[in-house]
Amino acid sequence: MKHLLIAAHPGHELLLWQWLRKERPQVVVLTNGAGANGVPRLALTIDNLERAGASWLSQVVEPVPDTTIYQALLDGDTRLFTRWLDALTAHVIAEDIGCIVADEAEDYNPSHDLCRILANQVAIQARASGHPVRAFGYPTVGHPSLPSRLAVEEHVVVELGVEAWQSKLDDMHRYARHFGGQLQRELGEFIAEFGAEAYGRECLFAARPTRYEQAEAPAVKPFFERMGEERVAAGTYKHVIRGAHLQAVATRLRDHASPMPR
Ligand SMILES: [Zn+2]
Repeated sequence: MKHLLIAAHPGHELLLWQWLRKERPQVVVLTNGAGANGVPRLALTIDNLERAGASWLSQVVEPVPDTTIYQALLDGDTRLFTRWLDALTAHVIAEDIGCIVADEAEDYNPSHDLCRILANQVAIQARASGHPVRAFGYPTVGHPSLPSRLAVEEHVVVELGVEAWQSKLDDMHRYARHFGGQLQRELGEFIAEFGAEAYGRECLFAARPTRYEQAEAPAVKPFFERMGEERVAAGTYKHVIRGAHLQAVATRLRDHASPMPR
């Protein structure tokens, strides 16, 4: 079976270090990883994918800076997202992809949540065209192999041997060190919180509709909204991206009629 990985950012591929080597998926990255410092991260990611035997699909989705996604969300302009939806759905059908794996929506980063909404809609539209496809997600900022989730959710697990686990951690640290700043800070925080051994097991959980697709309010204010408010207060950002912006995109993508023949 062919696998397609859809990730919001370069670097996420390291979370699925062993899975990439096992399934050798085709990989789409939505953004080039150029954050506030403007330095894109794609070159190292392409290298990571090559070493894992996975293939980067630059021709299906051309990565954009996060700011392009943020501006489109704020403007309610879904043209980029519907273009991605059409291109990815067509690709899944043409390439006979049997399994789509993508970031989970974790209320942390708008691009991650957008990635999940997009992947869900690609699966829905492919199925509507008579192409059965499985869909899974993986935590990008949450615990990668939480026992309480494994106990109740449909999942796929890839276990890493000690050597592979060590190589994965080395690759993660090298990548974070190379780009420094927020990336390095976040990796340090995740490892301090979950423990390095949590990364010795890669879990894919059966995809579920996001709260945006179900028009559900979050239990607590999303991290990205709190962060946005702080940055607006500090004068770094002009506007705060809200869950409502993502919900509007989810609705537009759901209602978007695929131009492909059925
Ligand atoms: Zn990310």
